[in-house]
Amino acid sequence: MIIGKIKDNGLIQDEPLIFEQGGEGRRGYSLPQWDVEEVEAQQTIPPHLLKEELEGFPQMSEVDVVRHFTRLSQWNFGVDSGFYPLGSCTMKYNPKLNEEIARMKGFTSIHPYQPEESVQGILKLMYELQSFLAEITGMDQVTLQPAAGAHGELTGLMMIRAALKARGQKRRKVLVPDTAHGTNCSTSTVTSFQMIEIKSNEKGIISPDQVARLMDEDIAAIMVTNPNTLGLFEEHLAEIAQIVHQKGGFVYCDGANLNALMGIVKLGSLGVDMVHLNLHKTFSTPHGGGGPGSGPLAVKKELAPFLPIPIIVKEGETYRFSENHPLSIGKIKAFYGNFGVTLKAYAYILSMGAEGLKRASEMAVLNANYLMNRLKQYYYLPYDRPCMHECVFTDRYQEKHHVTTLDIAKRLIDYGFHPPTIYFPLVVKGALMMEPTETESKEGLNRFIETMIHIAKEAQENPDFLRQAPQRVKVRRLDEVLAARKPKLRWTGKNPNNQIPSSQ
Ligand SMILES: *Cc1c(COP(=O)(O)O)cnc(C)c1O
Repeated sequence: MIIGKIKDNGLIQDEPLIFEQGGEGRRGYSLPQWDVEEVEAQQTIPPHLLKEELEGFPQMSEVDVVRHFTRLSQWNFGVDSGFYPLGSCTMKYNPKLNEEIARMKGFTSIHPYQPEESVQGILKLMYELQSFLAEITGMDQVTLQPAAGAHGELTGLMMIRAALKARGQKRRKVLVPDTAHGTNCSTSTVTSFQMIEIKSNEKGIISPDQVARLMDEDIAAIMVTNPNTLGLFEEHLAEIAQIVHQKGGFVYCDGANLNALMGIVKLGSLGVDMVHLNLHKTFSTPHGGGGPGSGPLAVKKELAPFLPIPIIVKEGETYRFSENHPLSIGKIKAFYGNFGVTLKAYAYILSMGAEGLKRASEMAVLNANYLMNRLKQYYYLPYDRPCMHECVFTDRYQEKHHVTTLDIAKRLIDYGFHPPTIYFPLVVKGALMMEPTETESKEGLNRFIETMIHIAKEAQENPDFLRQAPQRVKVRRLDEVLAARKPKLRWTGKNPNNQIPSSQ
């Protein structure tokens, strides 16, 4: 029996679902002959503990299972396989050393219910990481509990609400710029604040005038991303913070883009009251890497009483968890955050040192500016000024050939690159947002740049072909409308055309 059609795909193997493979009686193991009498499971195991027969459960040999999963893994693209300029995600290479450290037995075999005296080293490590992050951001205290950037935002706005309540105030609104990441909008909505949009100016940043016009005593906070999602530094942040503070509001900074600032700018010195960091971007865990994340929140001391509990305190040379904080918003995560991710961040910070972190940010900014300047002749650059860690182009020059951002992104896949972030930020029509990060070599950047230039030529000379990209990979252009309208979320039976379900 042959499953699927014979295809000349070379090493891009065709691969049916595992449920469509195997055959009756195939096994992935072979046990020696028993020397005891065979008994039916039903005779010795109580019925409620017995599993029923699984219908359609694949029966396969070891080699077929290994090949199945190895092939699937080869369809994937990761930072370890190539350049991944996905803007706003900081998909940089993460040193394997930090992964090794996070897998050390002393760390992986501890339990959150262990007595404090048996995990003093762990508490010390968490305490120190908090102080490193406080130093990097210019803040006073840090919680490691939030599990992601969005979760850090949620924690922050909950704390702001608690701080206002302690003052006897109830404010209903939050200011959010139009360039903000979608999580800022959802966070303000989830915490029942009404979101008021700030329009960014012609330079792509927010102007103090705008903020002054919108700011009043019903506004709890402003949420600013710095550098913002256009890859531009919010130059007027200090002045904006003053305006907000004068009316009794708080300044929340979305620090997901910290990769541009380490050792260069302390956000605390610009009037920021709280900032979350994405350890799974800047600090040695890949963003969207399939594993957990970590979004610690750093705050000024005025806000410290509202931090989630427990709080790690140091008394002499002893560390312990303290629960006695009456103004705390309580717990926002089971136990103490995603420890494995925080551990990698700790190892990363120590191995880089202060100078190394600064150098990383400088290189990230340099790489983005190099990319921006070499490509701006070929792709329209809506904000033509020095950028931070990322830059945003559009498809305006390709419009006359009816080639869009999506076509360009898909064509990059044919050349072995992960596409940049597309159609974000929303304020830029047809955005192509590129973040090269510091870990890319000049040769690597040049390869990408030459490819982008080549694609710009293809858009002129052969637009039809471009619209059919990608051609050289396992999964061709998907019907994205169908996938969005009719997502297939579960495997429900045989897949007649032997196609990949649109979503799992
Ligand atoms: C990634 C990102 C977030 C959200 O972080 P998650 O960990 O994915 O929740 C928020 N804001 C900005 C600017 C980001 O880039």
